[in-house]
Order: sequence, then C-alpha cells, then structure tokens
Amino acid sequence: MTDLSATTSSAYQQALEVIASVEPRIAEATRQELADQRSSLKLIASENYASPAVLLTMGTWFSDKYAEGTVGHRFYAGCQNVDTVESLAAEHARELFGAEYAYVQPHSGIDANLTAYWAILAHRVEGPWLGEAGVKNMNELTDADWEKLRHELGNQRLLGMSLDSGGHLTHGFRPNISGKMFHQQQYGTDPATGLLDYDALREKAREFKPLILVAGYSAYPRRVNFAKMREIADEVGATLMVDMAHFAGLVAGKVFTGDEDPVPHAHVVTSTSHKSLRGPRGGFILATEEYAPSVDRGCPMVLGGPLSHVMAAKAVAFAEARKPEFQAYAQDVADNAKSLAEGFKKRGAKLVTDGTDNHIVLLDVTSFGLTGRQAESALLDAGVVTNRNSVPADPNGAWYTSGIRFGTPALTTRGFGHDEFDKTAELVVDVLQNTTPGTTKAGAPSKATYTLADGVAERTRSASAEMLAAHPLYPGLDLS
Ligand SMILES: *Cc1c(COP(=O)(O)O)cnc(C)c1O
Repeated sequence: MTDLSATTSSAYQQALEVIASVEPRIAEATRQELADQRSSLKLIASENYASPAVLLTMGTWFSDKYAEGTVGHRFYAGCQNVDTVESLAAEHARELFGAEYAYVQPHSGIDANLTAYWAILAHRVEGPWLGEAGVKNMNELTDADWEKLRHELGNQRLLGMSLDSGGHLTHGFRPNISGKMFHQQQYGTDPATGLLDYDALREKAREFKPLILVAGYSAYPRRVNFAKMREIADEVGATLMVDMAHFAGLVAGKVFTGDEDPVPHAHVVTSTSHKSLRGPRGGFILATEEYAPSVDRGCPMVLGGPLSHVMAAKAVAFAEARKPEFQAYAQDVADNAKSLAEGFKKRGAKLVTDGTDNHIVLLDVTSFGLTGRQAESALLDAGVVTNRNSVPADPNGAWYTSGIRFGTPALTTRGFGHDEFDKTAELVVDVLQNTTPGTTKAGAPSKATYTLADGVAERTRSASAEMLAAHPLYPGLDLS
C-alpha cells in the first residue's frame, strides 16, 4: 500500500475531531476499528481494504442530494453534478468490464439482484403481456387484467445454485425473498468432488424450464464456465443472470477471461463493488442493450434514491481497477489462494474440491474433529478472522457447519505474498490441531464449545503481528 503523507494523517485527525465534537464515542469507535483492522489477520473472503481515495470520496456533501431517476431524467432539480458522477461511474464500469450498459445505483449486492430480477420480469413477462393486451402502460389495464398480470409476474421460475453448494441466499433460497417471489429450484455440486455438475444442471434446466438461470457463488472455490451456462440457458429459453459479487475483482483484473468472464455470456450481470473489486460498499448491474431499458428503471421502481457519494466512490474505484496495477493485484489474489491451499494440503488438511482456482479456500474442519462454529471461534480467539461455512452435504447443518471459508483479497491488498500465506496456513492448522471440542452439560459432544490449548492464541498472535507489521494497513496514517 502507498504511504500516506503527514498531511493526510492530519486531515483524518481533524475530521475525527469534528466528529468527536458531536459524538465522541463514534470518533472513538472509528479509531478503534482502524486499530482492530490493522492488528487482525483478515481472511474473510468478502472483505477488502478500499483505498484512501475511495474512502475519502464517500465523506462529502453528495450524500445530501436526492437524485431519483436516471442521468438527465431526474425527479428532482439540481442534479447536474450527480449526473456527472453517475455518468462517469457507468462509463468506467462499461470500459472496465467491456459491457454494453452499466447501472451503478444499487446500494448493495442484494439490491442489485432484486433490481435485476424485476428488470428481467419486466422485460420477459410484463412487456410482452402489455403488448398482447395492446396497451402501453399498466394504468390502462382493467382491474381484472391487472390482477392477471400480477399473477403472471408472481409465478415465474428461477433456477440457482444451492446455499450449501456455495450459492447465495438471493439465488432462490426459500426463506429469502427470491425463494418466495419465484417458483424456485436449486442446482448443486457433486457431493463426491465438490465440483459443479454441468450435466446434472442441464438435466434439471431441461425439466424445470426456468425463466431465469442464476450463476455465481459466495463460497465455491473454483472457476465457472459461463459459456456453458449460456448454452444451457439458451437451450431452455432462460435469461442468464450471473452474480459476480464475490469475484468481480478477478473479472476486472483479467484473471477470468474467455469462457470464465461472465460479461460476454450473460444477459445480465450483478455485482457488489466492495469485495474483491476493492471499491466502496455498494452494488451495480451490467446488461446487454436488450435488457438495459428495464434495468435503468431500477430507481424508483425497486430501489430507494441513489447514494450519490457512493456512486462517486464507485467511479474512483472503477478508475483504479482500470490501471495495470489492479491486474497485477488480481493475479496475486489468485496466486495467493493457491499458496494458502497448498499450505493447508501439505500440512494434511482437507479442502473442498481439493484446492482452489479463484480467491476462496474452503477448509473442511471435520478432520480436526471440529465443527465450523468451533473452528471459527478458536481462530478468532487467536486473532484470525474468518467465517464458518457449509460444506457439500454438510453433516452439521447450516448453523454449526463443517467448513471455514478463507479469502485472499484483503491481505493481498496489504502486500501478503506466497510466504505469508504459507505461514498463515501453518498458524491456522496449529490453532485447529490445538482445539478440543467441548461437551454439553449432559456430557454429550457439543457443536459449539471448545478449549484452545494454553499458549496457542499468544503464539499465533505474535507470529501474525510480525507479518502484519511488515505489511502495514494504510501506512503513514497516524491517529495517535
Ligand atoms: C455478498 C454477496 C451478495 C450480497 O451483497 P451485499 O452487498 O451484502 O448485499 C450477493 N450475491 C453474492 C453472490 C454475494 O457473494
């Protein structure tokens, strides 16, 4: 990370003083958050460290502006500067990903998915329906016809990857709104290999004939062939939506190209901007010309007013991602995941799919005699921040789980390379080997309690502190 100047430090100091003059506890929590992030081994696969330029862009008066609508067509007056910001963010996104159209208003990944679902329904169901009824506008429909259209919109089919195979809640998981607004079915991975089974998926798609096929994942440690996904979608007349929330940085950084780049193959691509892409917390949508007009109506039809300050920060982050340095970063993220995976394997640990070719490593902790919950807590005690995750056909269910998900984007931003990730694997294995599962009051095995052997947390913390000190977060930023 580039060194910040003394001037930047003093600007941050002064900003915190302004905040402290109103609510000192918030200024204090902000300082503490930096201290905590600096001193922990952050291996959460969905997190990163945005640049000071991205962070600073969010702290401005753009936050005060209402800008419902789209560039040049706002429901509020005085949006000329927001128009500049939104146009630039969209232009950078189109150029970065080679997309025909970009929509940068969604506030998060989930909002982007919801907006995309309604856009696809509008394009595939509502539009043709209104056409057949010979009306241009829903308000011209009789009440009876309107009810029929609502019924039609509410009875479409969606096929997405199951949660325990690595899919996301919004890909048709029943308790999620996506599982309720669609008739849904889920595809998964082969329980023996943990790999996506395209033939089984094709079979399922042929039988189910979904309107929308969703590809993308939050916890699948392998690349996906999006050309094959598009073939399957075309065969059954489905719209292919790819949710690249997790791996957008690897697409932007040209690690995923050809069949592994979703943009040339999908009709609609949704994403977050804050995970491997390293931008502000937010979402965005890419689409073909065909779907663009429907996606463009996201706000105010699905979304609340755009966060102009965050759109500005997205523009800055996309501009950063267009630089050659970002491509080098993305390649390092993938190389480092391999180093971490190799580090686990050579120490005898078991990985879902036996490795990785993206930024995620999924460790099966059953071989340590632990649940994901016990492993996650023991690691946290030792200053290693991860999250527990289901493994395929998980014997411990979705709450306790049997896996720990690791990701390399954040620590790669700090400058960690092969040696540090190999050392990280050593530290993790040491903690897990020295964690004993507890028992319940009745003496039965517990899925939650555990004991970490004496001295392990201390030796892990001191070894990580050494690596973290060699790769400081926001170097030069002094808030003491
Ligand atoms: C993280 C994630 C989301 C949700 O993003 P939020 O910004 O938290 O709403 C959606 N889809 C996938 C695949 C994700 O990994």
